[in-house]
Amino acid sequence: MIQMNDFGSEPAQLREEMVAASRSVFESGWYVLGKQVESFEQEWAGVCGADHCVGVANGLDALEIGMRALGIGPGDEVITTPMTAFATVLAVLRAGATPVLADIDPANAILDPESVIRCLSPRTKAIAVVHLYGQVGPVDTLLDVARDRGIHLIEDCAQSHLAAFDGKPAGTFGAFAAWSFYPTKNLGAMGDAGALTTSSAELAETAAMVRNYGQSVRYYHPMLGMNSRLDELQAALLRVRLPYLEGWTARRREIAAAYHERIESPRVRLLARPAKPERHVHHLFVVTTDEREALQAHLRDRGVSSLIHYPVPVHQQDPCRHLPRDPKGLPNAERHAATCLSLPCHPGLSDEAVHQVIAAVNSF
Ligand SMILES: *Cc1c(COP(=O)(O)O)cnc(C)c1O
Repeated sequence: MIQMNDFGSEPAQLREEMVAASRSVFESGWYVLGKQVESFEQEWAGVCGADHCVGVANGLDALEIGMRALGIGPGDEVITTPMTAFATVLAVLRAGATPVLADIDPANAILDPESVIRCLSPRTKAIAVVHLYGQVGPVDTLLDVARDRGIHLIEDCAQSHLAAFDGKPAGTFGAFAAWSFYPTKNLGAMGDAGALTTSSAELAETAAMVRNYGQSVRYYHPMLGMNSRLDELQAALLRVRLPYLEGWTARRREIAAAYHERIESPRVRLLARPAKPERHVHHLFVVTTDEREALQAHLRDRGVSSLIHYPVPVHQQDPCRHLPRDPKGLPNAERHAATCLSLPCHPGLSDEAVHQVIAAVNSF
C-alpha cells in the first residue's frame, strides 16, 4: 500500500544522527528550554528570514501565543478561513477573540480577499491567512487590506515550511508566523513542537514570556501566561532534520509536477498550479471530484491510500456553528470540503510509486 506518510523510508543515516542527538540530550541533564532550543530558534529564524524565533509546544499554541502577544483578546475579531486544520480557529477562540469566517478561492482553497473585505468590521484586529496545503496565500493583497485598515496580518505557516512569495519567505509578511513541527508536517519532530517567528523584538519577548507562565526572569511574573515550552529533545531532533528539508521540499515539488503533468481523468480536477514553483511546497497534493467515495475506493483497490483535508469545514463543526461569517455565506468552502481528496505526496515516494498513483487515478 502506498501510504500518505512513510517515516520508515527515511535514510538510515538520518536515523543514526537522531539517535546520537537524543543521546547527547539525555547525557546533558537539561531537558526543557536550553541550548538545543536556543540553537534551533536561531537556525529556524535564519531559514525563515526572520529576526526572532520563539520555540513553543505546538502550532496551536504558536498561534494563540502570537495573538495574545499582539494584545488580541475578548471583543476583538480575527478573520480567517473555515477550510483549515481546526487549530487555526481554535487558537483564535482560545485567545478569547471571535473568529469571523471568510470564504475560499475555489481555484486553490485559500482565503479569498474579496470575502475577507466583506467580513471586516470596526472590531477586526487581524486577518489570519493559512498557507493551505503548502501554497502561500495572496499575501500582497491581504497585506494591502490590513495596512489600509491598520490591522495585523497573521500567517499560519503550519503547512508551508520553505515556501516563498516573490523571493520572500512565507512567514515574513505578517506580524508573526506560526509554525507546527507535528511529525507529518514538512519539517516534523518526533512528537509535538512548534514555533513563532517575527521581525519584532518586542513581540518575540512577550511571546517568550507567555510560553513560560508569563515569567520575565525566574519567579517574576509581570503577566499571566501558559506552559508551552519546547523541550531539548524535540529541538535537537529538529536540528538534525533541518538540513534535509531542502531536499525533501525539492522531492515534493518533483512529485507534484509529475501529478500536474500526467494526471488526466475527466472525473478528477486538479487545483490551480501556482504561478511560480517557489510559492508551493506541496505539504499535500489535493484533487477534487464529484465522486469522492468511488475514487477513494478505486485508489484503495489499486494500493493507493488517500485522506480528506478537510471533510468538515470549521463552521459546520458543532462548537463553531454560531460563528460569524461572510454575509454571502461560505459556498466555496462547503463545496471544496465535499469534493477534495489528498493523494500521497511525501519525499519518500519512489518514482515507481508516483507512477502507480498516476496510473490509479487515470484509470478511474
Ligand atoms: C497542523 C496545523 C496546525 C496546528 O499545529 P499543531 O502543531 O498540530 O498544534 C495549525 N494550522 C494548520 C494549517 C495546520 O496544518
